[in-house]
Order: sequence, then C-alpha cells, then structure tokens
Amino acid sequence: MSAQIISGKDIANEIRAELTTEVARLKDEAGVTPGLATVLVGDDPASQMYVGMKNKAAAAMGIHSRQITLPADTPEDELLGVVAGLNADADIHGILVQSPLPDHINEGRIVEAIDPSKDVDGLHPLNVGRIATDSDDFFAPCTPAGVIEMLTRNGHDPAGKHVVVVGRSNLVGRPLSSLLMRKAPGGNATVTVCHSRTPDLGAMTRTADILVVAMGRPETITADMVASGAVVIDVGTNRVDDETREKGYRVCGDVLFDEVSEVAAAISPVPGGVGPMTITMLLSNTVKSARLAAG
Ligand code: NAP
Repeated sequence: MSAQIISGKDIANEIRAELTTEVARLKDEAGVTPGLATVLVGDDPASQMYVGMKNKAAAAMGIHSRQITLPADTPEDELLGVVAGLNADADIHGILVQSPLPDHINEGRIVEAIDPSKDVDGLHPLNVGRIATDSDDFFAPCTPAGVIEMLTRNGHDPAGKHVVVVGRSNLVGRPLSSLLMRKAPGGNATVTVCHSRTPDLGAMTRTADILVVAMGRPETITADMVASGAVVIDVGTNRVDDETREKGYRVCGDVLFDEVSEVAAAISPVPGGVGPMTITMLLSNTVKSARLAAG
C-alpha cells in the first residue's frame, strides 16, 4: 500500500485563504482589524525565528501584528505589566508570549495573566478547562487544533474511530485527547493516550484507526507498530545529524515515514505536515477573537 499524503501545507494554505477573506470582511463590515501581539523575552534564535514567522504570516493576511521584544533579564513583574497593558488594549485581539521564557519567570503565572478571551495560544487554564468540560466557548491550542483540521479536511473524521495519541504533554497530547473526546464536530472518538510509562507501546499503537504521535523521539514508530490501513499524523519535529545534507542535519518526525507509508492508508509528512498548521491555527484563533469582539 502507498499511503495518501496528508499535506499540512496544502490545508494551511486553504485555511489561510479563508481567513484572508474573513479579515477583509471584518474590516469592511465591522471596521475591525484583527490584532495579534507577540511578546519575546530574550534573544533565543529559534524563538526569534518562530515569532518572525508568526508576524509575517499575520501580515500576509491583513492581520495587524505588534512585536514586543524584552531583554532576557526582564523581571516577572514587568512582563506581567506588559501582559496587563495588552489585555486592556482594544486593538489587540490575541496575545502570544513566546515559550520558553527565561528560568526566573514563572511561565504558568504569565499564561494565567493573559485575558482568556485573548488567549489565542489556547493554554490558559480556563480554555483548557472549557475544552475538557465540553463548553463551546474556548480557544483550542494551535497544534492540536491543527491536527483535527488535518483529519477532518482530508475525510478522516475521528467520530466513532479509535484514536491512539502518543504523548501527554500540556502543549500537544493532553489537549488533543480532550478535543478528540468532545461531543462535538472533530471529536466523538474513542481515545487512548500513551506515554513513556506505557509498557508495550506497539501493542497500543497497533489498535489505532487513527494514530497521532507527539513524542519528540525521531523515527520511533515503525511499520510493525501500525495497523494496515491506519491514518497516521506525525507531530514530531526532530533534528538529526545527517552528513549527506549541506546543513549537516535533517528534520524528521517521530514516525519512520518510508516504512510506515507502506502500511498506512494516509500519513502526514515531516516537514510539511503539522508544522504549517500550528501558525495557521494561531491566526485562526486571532480572527475568531476579533470576530467575537466585533459582536
Ligand atoms: P514533550 O513535552 O517532550 O512530550 C513528549 C511526550 O512523549 C511525553 O508525554 C512523553 O511521556 C512521551 N514519550 C516520550 N518518550 C516516549 C516513549 N518512548 N514511549 C511513549 N511515550 C513517550 O513534547 P511535546 O511538546 O508534546 O512535543 C512532541 C513533539 O512534537 C516534539 O518533537 C515537538 O518538537 C513536536 N511539536 C511540533 C509542533 C509543530 O508545530 N509541528 C508543535 C509542538 C510540538 P511522559 O509524559 O511520560 O514523559
């Protein structure tokens, strides 16, 4: 079997086109320009790159973006003050404080200080709780929301399926399992969550109709761990040394793609899979926040 490729890049482009239309409509009909604020503390190159990509993508679809860059030794109180200012700013509909923060700052305290109605990262405990309690009024975290879109827009509705999620992080595995369990579109799945204490991972993954892997362990899921005809979404993004590449490394997922694509019915690649969806869902949440603010 040669699997259907679930291209996050293509779905991200489709959603971005829809969002661009909605941004224009919000401006024309409600006089509202969606606004995203990104806060970067310190000069970590990867964080700088991520924030730059988010702002560029926002600008491309007409979203107003504001980047606030603070030195690495910024006291926690000062960062809390910046967040409070953005909470009160009517031009800003989404606030993203780029992770990781320097060690002296309590990340949980910063996330909890963000107005939940501007929490476009979907990490505030109120949004996490609303997802878990089947409320309709929430922002979903971007990567898990992207996975759901990749499934549903490719005709792999999780409803009634057995979905095995490998990973239970607060960023990916845990909120994804909550979304999949919801009594709502994109949910209604039977969900099994695996982690590092799962004794026989293969025995679990082989039972999946849909397998979502978010371990951060390069190419760990092999063909013998996947049922014939399963749908596989690979969230993992890993750099591994590769002397044959100009840069000396390559980026790969948690799934051994060449092997697993021979048994799976559909599979997402890395790169070009979940990655492009994460930023897209951040922009989607920002537009949603602006829509709600416009009334
Ligand atoms: P994380 O916080 O390190 O969590 C990894 C999870 O995998 C943990 O729950 C861990 O179990 C589990 N795990 C590790 N080794 C395992 C094993 N041998 N068997 C079973 N479970 C195992 O990572 P994360 O933030 O969720 O990210 C996961 C991967 O997704 C990373 O590669 C990351 O770069 C990638 N990612 C990509 C995007 C994107 O936009 N494409 C976004 C976010 C993350 P324990 O809980 O027991 O430790």
